Amino acid sequence: MKLKTRLIHAGEEEDSSTGAVTVPIYQVSTFKQETVDSNKGYDYSRAGNPTRAAVERYIANIEGAKYGYAFSSGLAALSTILMTFNAGDHFIVSNDVYGGTFRLLNQVFNRLNLTSTFVDATDQDKIRKEIRPNTKAVFIETPGNPLFKVIDINKLSKLTKENNLRLIVDNTFLTPYWQNPLSLGADIVFHSATKYLGGHSDVLAGVIAINDSQLAEEINLVQKAVGAVLGPQDSYLLLRGMKTLGIRMEEHEKNAREIAKWLDNHPKVKKVYYPGLKTHPGHELSKKQARGFGGILSFEIKDKERIDDILSRFKIFKLAVSLGAVESLVSVPAKMTHATLPKELQDELGISDGLIRISIGIEDVEDLIEDLEVALQ
Ligand SMILES: *Cc1c(COP(=O)(O)O)cnc(C)c1O
Repeated sequence: MKLKTRLIHAGEEEDSSTGAVTVPIYQVSTFKQETVDSNKGYDYSRAGNPTRAAVERYIANIEGAKYGYAFSSGLAALSTILMTFNAGDHFIVSNDVYGGTFRLLNQVFNRLNLTSTFVDATDQDKIRKEIRPNTKAVFIETPGNPLFKVIDINKLSKLTKENNLRLIVDNTFLTPYWQNPLSLGADIVFHSATKYLGGHSDVLAGVIAINDSQLAEEINLVQKAVGAVLGPQDSYLLLRGMKTLGIRMEEHEKNAREIAKWLDNHPKVKKVYYPGLKTHPGHELSKKQARGFGGILSFEIKDKERIDDILSRFKIFKLAVSLGAVESLVSVPAKMTHATLPKELQDELGISDGLIRISIGIEDVEDLIEDLEVALQ
């Protein structure tokens, strides 16, 4: 079946007791067993719940994976992945990752002696140089955040395979609608489903998709043992959101392309970061490994003293962290999503105080441009 059909029907199972057309919310913690060693597939909702199971089948299907898992947040999903490693293991991580990922690695898992080295992962030689005897995985986000550096997933997967490392890809920005890292050679793909997959700023969730059965068993064990699982209500909201992923992504991207071009010609704007622009260094690679460029972009204003003034003028764009929902949001990475990065790293990456990130919603693009124009003037 084609993706647009799967987006509507993935994860479904015929409900033989009622014929319900959508997946019901199984608001239940435990399940009556037939005997001590037989049940109807569920025994306790930490280990498995029918509404969550539908999300898990769904994400596996649309990522082209064999196995899917759902968690209470994107970082709960990432923590679960990290907990499949052992104390003493080392990771190489692309240096423009989500700020919360940086914090999780550098302030939590480092205490368990899981260490990370952050590198510019667009340069494979830099990754190769950091590989140590105890290196076990390479973790990347592509396109990166908030400067949209694009990393060649397929090329990197060759390096990780040669060195027996796992390649973990955060696919939150492009979603399975535009990019499928497993088909490009990644071992584990994860999402903050709080963003585009949910799509309506009303649910916090994380998902993982995997093909390897050994790896899937390891994730399954930690999911059950640690229990940061997605609850039934949130599973339902996520399923409901994901059905419209395709039409939302098309609209987000259409608006983003138009706004990127408009900002690129704006006299008050110094630079626009969006892989859909031909001038973006990752443009050609993006076209090769993904089917779209996404709906988020950043731009640097010429006069950074004006930033508070600009932010105060928006009527439609809301000043908020997060991204990927139907409404347009604006944020300042240096002070918000990436505030946990040390100032030196921010400077090295180019996350300046004058950098504004916008998540383009699916409102009418003329209204969005007018809102930006009023704010910038
Ligand atoms: C938001 C986000 C996360 C973290 O996910 P939560 O659902 O907030 O825990 C991870 N990666 C990226 C790219 C994100 O945008």
